[in-house]
Amino acid sequence: MNEPRRFGPTPWTCCDCGAENEMFRSHCKECGREPRRTLTDRTQIYPGHREIIQEGARAGQQKGYVVLAEEERAKGFVRPVRRSYKHLICGGVTTMGQSLAETYARDPKFYSGTFCCHCGTHFPVGENGQFVWDGSSEKVGI
Ligand SMILES: [Zn+2]
Ligand SMILES: [Zn+2]
Repeated sequence: MNEPRRFGPTPWTCCDCGAENEMFRSHCKECGREPRRTLTDRTQIYPGHREIIQEGARAGQQKGYVVLAEEERAKGFVRPVRRSYKHLICGGVTTMGQSLAETYARDPKFYSGTFCCHCGTHFPVGENGQFVWDGSSEKVGI
């Protein structure tokens, strides 16, 4: 989908109960509906998606990564969409897919860790994490 993404405080309407919610809310304030999640290829989340791939170009990565569903990301972003982050330990920059980048922009604390392409494994994000957005000193995941 190439429809423009909103940035800034836009309210959204709950598709279950019809309540209007402030943009920063991820759960509906009336019925508590949780934001729908999928894997990055839009398929349903399955129990083994966190298994680590052992060989090939994606070695070290999980079989699948969870993102906020497209309609959740379309509600608007609380941060700019950024595709690349730097691992402070090795200095390597990793670029991620658009749906992952948009999930970070919609819900910056969605993930507890992320993948470094140079180290070939996952490390923590957040206040005490090991990643900053490329070209800035802003930590990923806060
Ligand atoms: Zn609701
Ligand atoms: Zn690294």
